[in-house]
Amino acid sequence: MNSEYLKQQTVRLEQEYEALSAELYAELDAACLVTTAEKTANELLTLAAQSINPSLRQKANRLEAIDAALCAMRLDLYGICADCEEPIGINILDKDPAQPRCQQCQSHNKYHHQR
Ligand SMILES: [Zn+2]
Repeated sequence: MNSEYLKQQTVRLEQEYEALSAELYAELDAACLVTTAEKTANELLTLAAQSINPSLRQKANRLEAIDAALCAMRLDLYGICADCEEPIGINILDKDPAQPRCQQCQSHNKYHHQR
């Protein structure tokens, strides 16, 4: 995976993170759950993840996935499957830059969850 591609994926992840956290904060504010200015980003994420509102939970989960991908990027582990440590296909990362698993482990995961 070349550095140009990694840079491009970082930009995609950062842009999605910015947009999504703005939406999440707006929703939290609108729901009068918190005054977002008084909380740290982490506290807000935790609140949203524990919310009964599925839209908030979904956004919080997505933000965590993006954050994990950006973290992997900094550790030079981006594009490595979290389960089997094989490279994740570029086609998968193009579709979802925050995907932490290769094709095989994704379907393996699904299979486990269905049981
Ligand atoms: Zn894997």
